[in-house]
Amino acid sequence: MTDLSNHFATQAIRTGHRPTSEHEHGEPIFTTSSFVFDNAAQAAARFAGDEPGNIYSRFTNPTTQYFERRLAALEGGESCVATASGMSAIMVMCIALLKSGDHIVSSRSIFGSTTSLFDKYLTRFDIQTSFVGQTDLREWKAAINTNTRMLFLETPSNPLSEIADIRELAALAHENDCLLVVDNCFCTPALQKPLQLGADLIVHSATKYLDGQGRIVGGAVVGDQKRVGEDIFGAIRTTGPCISPFNAWVALKGLETLDLRMKAHSSQAMDVARYLSDHSQVERVYYAGLESHPQHELAKQQQSGFGGVVSFVVKGGQEKAWKVIDSTRMISITANLGDVKSTITHPATTTHGRLSDEQKLQSGISGGLIRVAVGLESVEDIIADIDRGLDS
Ligand SMILES: *Cc1c(COP(=O)(O)O)cnc(C)c1O
Repeated sequence: MTDLSNHFATQAIRTGHRPTSEHEHGEPIFTTSSFVFDNAAQAAARFAGDEPGNIYSRFTNPTTQYFERRLAALEGGESCVATASGMSAIMVMCIALLKSGDHIVSSRSIFGSTTSLFDKYLTRFDIQTSFVGQTDLREWKAAINTNTRMLFLETPSNPLSEIADIRELAALAHENDCLLVVDNCFCTPALQKPLQLGADLIVHSATKYLDGQGRIVGGAVVGDQKRVGEDIFGAIRTTGPCISPFNAWVALKGLETLDLRMKAHSSQAMDVARYLSDHSQVERVYYAGLESHPQHELAKQQQSGFGGVVSFVVKGGQEKAWKVIDSTRMISITANLGDVKSTITHPATTTHGRLSDEQKLQSGISGGLIRVAVGLESVEDIIADIDRGLDS
């Protein structure tokens, strides 16, 4: 009954759970490695794939499936597989869908570990990646070769909130027989539905907003039944980066409040961005919700909110930026994001510290840049905490 609703808020709370004979109301956590068969013939039928049912928690666990079904519904995908982390979601997707000799075109503005995965590890298997500017369609076009199989991006990007045009890049991908993969970590399906805009696959770090309270590490891939339900599922079954049922349960319960949280994160981040734009010690604010953002209109079209991450450049470079960070008393100095607790970080010396000075310059990661992932504490307290170091 409840699986039939199209309403996001209802699906986020009601979809996915298949109550057991105990008639439990809350979703149970199945902490079991394996499942028992009635007899040898049933075991044989399950292993052969002739009979559906649970076998072993590396690839069939009911709690994990509750989470997968719920996230698939929210993203509007046919199938979802959960993974141990966001990085293992990206890794297993590549293992399942690419082969030696294939080529990826990726935005340069992606998560640091994703860059390393493409650059340092996939290259060992002769899968090469070309990196291009997130917002320059001509660069994407020019980088596509006959062996390109996948276009990859995150939008909005971290930390500078560059918006990629998903519809346009999906069309480009399909003209060239490629898949478009979107890392939907920053918006989540509550604010952006890449599959509806033409993307083929979505990867998630459930560690961030899906859990939403900084408790677990997890990930997921969402898409069509063939690629996700068969190919990527098969790769997880064989290679093993499965999520633990407990972590799947935490993320499952996180989804129930996702809609409310993302609206609240967006509204608080907007307040912080406006406050910073008016501040005399701030040179520039990066937030797609501001009318001054170069892709504000595009963000309005493809997102229903602007998300919780605001970055800004202070006057006075790294010294001043560190001072602002060190003057906070409440906001946590940590590189994580997507938590109800606000976090603050200095990208140039942490998440982007391994880039060369030239790469930093090219990607806009200056010494004065600060990233705040705006949480759900009172926004007055958040602003007062940032203000402490700015004004001093
Ligand atoms: C954190 C993050 C990842 C990696 O996720 P983990 O769960 O830490 O492995 C991937 N993409 C983005 C955009 C992230 O923020």
